[in-house]
Amino acid sequence: GVPVFLHVVFYRTAASPPSSNFLLLGPSGAGKTAFTTLLEAKSSPASKKAHSTHTSQTSTLISVSLPPTVPTASNRYRSVNDPSLKDASKNPIRYHLRDTPGHGKLRVSQGISELQAMSTSNDAKTKLRGVIFMVDTAALVDEETLRDTATYLHDVLLILQKRALGKGKSSTKRVAEISVLVAANKQDLFTALPPGSVREKLETEIDRIRKSKTKGLMDASMDSAGPDAEEDEILGDDDGQGVFTFKLLQEVGVKVEVVGGAVKGDQQEEFGSGVRRWEEWVGMCL
Ligand code: GDP
Repeated sequence: GVPVFLHVVFYRTAASPPSSNFLLLGPSGAGKTAFTTLLEAKSSPASKKAHSTHTSQTSTLISVSLPPTVPTASNRYRSVNDPSLKDASKNPIRYHLRDTPGHGKLRVSQGISELQAMSTSNDAKTKLRGVIFMVDTAALVDEETLRDTATYLHDVLLILQKRALGKGKSSTKRVAEISVLVAANKQDLFTALPPGSVREKLETEIDRIRKSKTKGLMDASMDSAGPDAEEDEILGDDDGQGVFTFKLLQEVGVKVEVVGGAVKGDQQEEFGSGVRRWEEWVGMCL
């Protein structure tokens, strides 16, 4: 007979994640361009000059490599001595980050339409895995900036909540989770608010936005449809009655985390470990 050899080969299958696309949003001045530039430089140190400025009017999609020492959801249970992890430096895990161009109001509307498109996409190439919403934590003490930032974040979260609840869809299939990272940037500045107060300020401001929206909808429903007509327009699953917290959103399937960092201090450990903890968040989505 013919001998049969069975070869069992273990290799890094990486349990290929359903999607590795992330969208970078946030008000202008938050540090999004600085962040993409830094990630590009870290991913390909040899070609630093390649895309150092983003002047394009279309959104940019960059391919970024995750530092090999950052764990991913699929390899977190492996031992550090696992030989397959050593290969990671030669063959790093990559993800895609989309930055939206433009300024001021334009940037917001482009960001929102990009989010609409990516969050409803079923194509693995464009399908969204997570949103990184960047904020300037030194600028949030300004009422106007806080209101603008919270309004933008509110609109982003409402889109994700509607998607998670699957309102208006005939299919009852569960949608893949899209997580949100509020990247509390500029922690290197001594005027920066710590991530804990950034979270509180944003929650309080979003609560205010949500309450005034609830009131508006209730007034409108007096003379039109029934009281529940626009229920899905309210962020959180409590009809806008209680106090808004990001935790409330977790119950409808939208996970929000606020994590501090500094694009500028990336090589200096003392500033909230630079962007490391955001990279760890990305890793846990992969
Ligand atoms: P964008 O409008 O969101 O793209 O913001 P930019 O990337 O253009 O950044 C706005 C300004 O903030 C620039 O002057 C950056 O150099 C600065 N900046 C970005 N990240 C940091 C940071 O971590 N710390 C400090 N101190 N400044 C930062």
